[in-house]
Amino acid sequence: MNSTWVKHAISEINADYQRSADTHLIRLALPAFPGIQLYLKDESTHPTGSLKHRLARSLFLYGLCNGWINENTTIIESSSGSTAVSEAYFARLLGLPFIAVMPSCTAKRKIEQIEFYGGRCHFVQSACEIYEASEMLARELNGHYMDQFTYAERATDWRGNNNIADSIFRQMTHEPNPEPSWVVMSAGTGGTSATIGRYIRCQGYNTQLMVVDPQNSVFHDYWQTRDTSLRSPTGSKIEGIGRPRVEPSFIPDVVDEMLRVPDAASVATALWLEDQLGRKVGASTGTNMWGALQLATRMRDEGRSGSIVTLLCDSGERYLDTYYNPEWVASNIGEIAPWQAELAAMMKS
Ligand SMILES: *Cc1c(COP(=O)(O)O)cnc(C)c1O
Repeated sequence: MNSTWVKHAISEINADYQRSADTHLIRLALPAFPGIQLYLKDESTHPTGSLKHRLARSLFLYGLCNGWINENTTIIESSSGSTAVSEAYFARLLGLPFIAVMPSCTAKRKIEQIEFYGGRCHFVQSACEIYEASEMLARELNGHYMDQFTYAERATDWRGNNNIADSIFRQMTHEPNPEPSWVVMSAGTGGTSATIGRYIRCQGYNTQLMVVDPQNSVFHDYWQTRDTSLRSPTGSKIEGIGRPRVEPSFIPDVVDEMLRVPDAASVATALWLEDQLGRKVGASTGTNMWGALQLATRMRDEGRSGSIVTLLCDSGERYLDTYYNPEWVASNIGEIAPWQAELAAMMKS
């Protein structure tokens, strides 16, 4: 039986959900692609600034309903930042202590936001160390390790129930091509691509799912080889996506196609999107959009019309000192000018 506190905690999360609005689906006008519509599901407008707001809500409900979280539980999470910001928000809503285990290179703005919501940050040197450090902290403090990389795919109800896929397909109903030819998504936990891929199958749509992967990530190779022992010695430079190990939440069989995207192309596309939208987006949104534009080009070359949907995962305001700082980009990402030229050429043909 639920304790009074657990009942109260669940109703707090449900009440918070009732006070929330759905996110916008933005249509991008691209005159160079006649008959092809591109859409961005804008997840940056959640109260905690990213798509991880949905995941954090699901993970807390999952933990509460499994009996893993009670009124004395310290919540611990391994994160590249976005999930920790959203979980700190929900931990504060429930009055629970929260500790984020993150690589020391995490964006300063995210660290400030975690602390704003009353969370604590525990730093490790590299992305590969977050898992073990989280397990150790949870043992020491008798806390609960949320483990987004394992539970993201199962904490979300992929069948419908107002998940992100259900929301996208409902928002598309009055568009010229309501059934997207493609949905494009990058993978961090892999939870969002799992939800979208399963939803497409469950609902019987003909939409295909492309997952885009940055440099220093094992997902692309894993999709081809199914070798779960793959490791990358360096962490991804595109915050939020790309992992040094095969995460259990990444479900390869629901992915129709994968594309490797150079980090410089992701950053160039994020900057290009700023001109299109009038505001800054994070680098993973650049990765997504690069994939969507490759598909749009393929469709144009083949004389096809149709729609492509991708995600605006978070705002660029979080990354002013990195992706939006030309010096940081030059020394950490490299030359983006060739990719900017390629984008310009794409928009001319
Ligand atoms: C987590 C994250 C993603 C990837 O989403 P998953 O569902 O974890 O695969 C993309 N972009 C950003 C900014 C993220 O934080």
